[in-house]
Amino acid sequence: MTCEICGNKKMITDTGELPICPKCSGLRIVDKKLAILIAEAQIKWLENKFDDYIRKFDKKRLLIWLLDAREKFSRQFVDNPSIMLSKFFAYNVLIKEVMRLYDTDGSEIADEKNTEHLISTFSDFVNIRNRRNLIKEELGYCIAKEDFDIYKMDHKTLMANFEFVPSEDWLPILETLKQNDITDEKSATEYMQKHKMEYEKARATPQKTEYRTPEETIRIFYRFFESSRAAIHKNEIFVETFNFEYLKNNGVKPEMFLKLTNVLPQRGLLVSKSRQQFRIHLKRTGRKDILNLYDTLVFGPNNKDVFPLFVELDKKEDIVFISPAFIFLIYLIYYPIYYHDLFAAETQRLAKKFEKEDIPKMFRKNRFNVINNIVDKKKSKLEIDTLAWGGNVLYVIETKVWGIKSYYETKQRHLNIERDIMGIIDGEKYRVKNKVLVVEKVPSLLSKITYVKENLAELCSDYKHIKEIKGLVVTRIFPPINTYKDVKIINFSDIEKLNG
Ligand SMILES: [Zn+2]
Repeated sequence: MTCEICGNKKMITDTGELPICPKCSGLRIVDKKLAILIAEAQIKWLENKFDDYIRKFDKKRLLIWLLDAREKFSRQFVDNPSIMLSKFFAYNVLIKEVMRLYDTDGSEIADEKNTEHLISTFSDFVNIRNRRNLIKEELGYCIAKEDFDIYKMDHKTLMANFEFVPSEDWLPILETLKQNDITDEKSATEYMQKHKMEYEKARATPQKTEYRTPEETIRIFYRFFESSRAAIHKNEIFVETFNFEYLKNNGVKPEMFLKLTNVLPQRGLLVSKSRQQFRIHLKRTGRKDILNLYDTLVFGPNNKDVFPLFVELDKKEDIVFISPAFIFLIYLIYYPIYYHDLFAAETQRLAKKFEKEDIPKMFRKNRFNVINNIVDKKKSKLEIDTLAWGGNVLYVIETKVWGIKSYYETKQRHLNIERDIMGIIDGEKYRVKNKVLVVEKVPSLLSKITYVKENLAELCSDYKHIKEIKGLVVTRIFPPINTYKDVKIINFSDIEKLNG
């Protein structure tokens, strides 16, 4: 919704009150171009500060500390699944950064306290990069606390004078990410409590996992796969970091990760092997091209472009670290990427189930009468997902599943969803074919409403009580618009708020 007075997009406040218009409230909105420049200057400054900070450390010890912390974190994660993304992200990027600066001198010994500072400085850095992208995407505003002169700005002003405020468009994205368990640490704890039992049931010992077919594994872990897949693709920064396509291109199957860690004593503890021992260990995967495989899987001073799955220290040391719990986590994250088609098929199956079973069930639970799959016998093209009525209102319902797709945190994705929703109501279906957008004419929800109005007595036994016939679109994501041409658009969790 935009401001009724000036037409600007409203912004979300911390206080939980209704969104306000930044312009009419007299806030100093920084123009988009300038806001991006400011964010870039902040990033540059933090980058330098961050490099200096890493340089101070004894790199070898810091690296081992990070590997150990990452393994303990992954161990917890496997027991209590929740996507504490920022931390998971931080460990992996930091390991890469430390390797980049490995040859610089430094003597500070990594411990609980100084590394905590390192990780928090790092998350500031990631946050600012994220904000820059959200401003670019017009999903937020940069607000200056005091007036400033861009040409005479010191570092203190640069870092302290600007605030990022999300715009209203950010809310449905945030809600959808939350609904998909992609959360910050605080909500992750709540999530853990809520889903612990469910996950315990699904979680299996690695031995059992090995004997499942990929189809079974995808069914059991679907919810986790869907979340993690969306999480690592939600924005540019994450896509850059978690790019596992090269594993797929190098023929690495997820099952290999199980074979490499199942024989190890215990998850949660780092295991070290010499390079030669590790090469022998790699034979467990059944691959013949061990040297090739070594370069794909082992991150090290001479191989800095790969993801730090297994990590080799400097040549003098002759050590490769294996992180069993972390590798199991990677196995889970990589699974739906490798078995992309099977994952897509399961998504299709669940989408059908959502439309045909889950949504009607939810309406019934909320005291609606429901009929499913109405087909116009004269015009066989016209199909209505669901009719639901309660009291004197009847809803003509169209159900749509949108899983959260890659680049969910972008304006384009947001606009596409908006376009698709309006398309349902107007009778236009969009799809991309050979990279070209194709529009197909389909029966519109508006025409379906007319059809129901004209044939009410035939369709609904309670027709005498019905005073009003309305269109309704129910989605699995949080919709970016809530009404269009008098049709309401709601998330499925809002069915209980409908009157009927
Ligand atoms: Zn305004």
